[in-house]
Amino acid sequence: MPDADLIVRNGTVLTMDPRGTRIDGGFVAIRDGALAAVGQGAAAAEWTAPDAIDARGGIVLPGLVNTHTHAAMTAFRGLADDLPLMTWLEEHIFPAEARLDTEKVRSGSLLACAEMILSGTTCFCDMYLFEDAVAQAAASAGVRAVVGEVLYDFPSPHYGPPEAGLAFTEALADKWKDHPLVSVAVEPHSPYLCAPELLRRSAEVARRLGLPIVIHLSETAQEVETVRNRYGCSPVEHLERLGLLGADLLACHCVALGETDMDLLARYDVKVAHNAESNMKLASGVAPVPALLERGVCVGIGTDGCASNNNLDLFGEMDTVAKLHKVQASDPTVLPAETVLRMATIEGARALGMADRIGSLEPGKRADLIVVDTAKPHLTPMYRPASHLVYAARGGDVDTMIVDGRVLMRHRRLATVDLEEVTRAVLDWAGGLGRPAQG
Ligand SMILES: [Zn+2]
Repeated sequence: MPDADLIVRNGTVLTMDPRGTRIDGGFVAIRDGALAAVGQGAAAAEWTAPDAIDARGGIVLPGLVNTHTHAAMTAFRGLADDLPLMTWLEEHIFPAEARLDTEKVRSGSLLACAEMILSGTTCFCDMYLFEDAVAQAAASAGVRAVVGEVLYDFPSPHYGPPEAGLAFTEALADKWKDHPLVSVAVEPHSPYLCAPELLRRSAEVARRLGLPIVIHLSETAQEVETVRNRYGCSPVEHLERLGLLGADLLACHCVALGETDMDLLARYDVKVAHNAESNMKLASGVAPVPALLERGVCVGIGTDGCASNNNLDLFGEMDTVAKLHKVQASDPTVLPAETVLRMATIEGARALGMADRIGSLEPGKRADLIVVDTAKPHLTPMYRPASHLVYAARGGDVDTMIVDGRVLMRHRRLATVDLEEVTRAVLDWAGGLGRPAQG
């Protein structure tokens, strides 16, 4: 009788494998942090394990992958809403960020980890300041993360002069290189905040160390105009000239794209992080996701930071993504639920270069999965699990989460984050930020 460490049984298993296999009354056996078996319930009897989780008829699926966020910005949630992008950034976000330090970023990131665990996200890709603190938060919460220190042409509140940014990134990559959950990316902010030399050097470091590159790209029409004025081409063409386009580049937003840009992204196998709610809230526009998918571009889903979303709930984000593109195309058949669910799981994993390890429930992959409780009025009855997950479920319906074989939440109880302590730590420094001035 084969041994496992943990068995999850009695669920509808959506494997998200290439055939879209669904197993009713299925089970998952986990050993040494990996999936040892995924199959029909009857076969579960062949396995022994010291621990078992009853999915109680719910849906078992790969954990969701958030391909773009700024985790510590949980502390700025609701600080400044309903403002033009530059006013929002320059008068509210940048001044708040100038006062950040390691401890603040760590507590803000831990709060984000708690929110992600409670809403089904097992892996996130982060861009921020003091990124070692984000890595520490993810590692202690047990969440999988790709972290990268934001690089730009002006001094950072963290590493100081611009030239220190890449050195810090290299040290960060070295520190975390053998960690089972945390990996590092090289993350120049954008073509409009990074000079060509910084972009070129970022690519050189990334490729020398075998790290992915993450960048904000073509987020707004204004960015395209700025780059055109400076360099005489679109932001995507600019990156092509500098040698950045490649299968290891994750481009976040990609809202303002022309046909040539989309062809370039497809030709170089560039990955895209789609952030529908952030783009809507900042009125940046609608990324041409159906056209990208038609070209075979890999598109994952991101929430962006909490100051422009204002939450990290990928269930809500999937709902928005599916509906936004229907209304944009005046076509209800665009982006069906199954496609959007793939974007939030296996395609997100592919976007981060991790599809060989996570994103689907197949033997040999790491055991990153969630159980969604469907015994609820708003999820009864259930004809198509994918439809429920995209259009009806919310993050709060996630009952249990396992990452790398470790149970991070069991029946809504957090196992790795002391929520009371984290909440207190964030309120200690962020509580007064939004208070109106005296007098
Ligand atoms: Zn962003």
